[in-house]
Amino acid sequence: MAHWYHEPEPFRYSLGAFIQAARSVTFMLQTEKAAFAEFNWYDEWVSRAKGDPALQWLNSARRDFVHRQALEPNSWLRMRCIGNPNLPGRRDKHPFEMMASPFQCTHYYMYGPSTDHRHEFTRHWSMEDLNGRELLEVCADIYDQLDDVVREAHDHLGAHMVSHAQAGSIRRLPCMEDLKRYRVVRTSIRRGKEVWLNEPKKSHHD
Ligand SMILES: [Zn+2]
Ligand SMILES: [Zn+2]
Repeated sequence: MAHWYHEPEPFRYSLGAFIQAARSVTFMLQTEKAAFAEFNWYDEWVSRAKGDPALQWLNSARRDFVHRQALEPNSWLRMRCIGNPNLPGRRDKHPFEMMASPFQCTHYYMYGPSTDHRHEFTRHWSMEDLNGRELLEVCADIYDQLDDVVREAHDHLGAHMVSHAQAGSIRRLPCMEDLKRYRVVRTSIRRGKEVWLNEPKKSHHD
């Protein structure tokens, strides 16, 4: 999902897949209820989850494909033009900024003017019931909470689960530590060609 952050169509599909996978975690735990000597710990987790906005959103979100309309009111794409000689007084300290439709991929906005300078594209995806909270952060939060409950389930069964968390990290997965690197894209324009710096492999969806 983070991989597709700048490609709206595959992003929506992978968000739908995340929602479905995340919801199946608690569903699976419930169907395995018989395996546990007691299930109070799970009921307690469920009542805690009811007070958590991210998990509440997960519970109410549609299972299947995420529609554009659901993202539209709370999502945005900000483009910054940095160091453009054609925009005097708009140097790095006060770059020229504009908002654009997030429903076009970042490639769509590239290959613009020919003066040598840089662009920065920042994505903010959000949905209803999230109070403007950024989706990647919400999903990382959900992942961590589900990881906790699955871990607790294993503890109750006397099983061991490998942890990928690094010491001092707030996230269970090291790749979710720095979310900005998925949200912000930097490009460089040299001799009329705009190049996406650190573009992920196979990032464009045809
Ligand atoms: Zn520019
Ligand atoms: Zn693209």
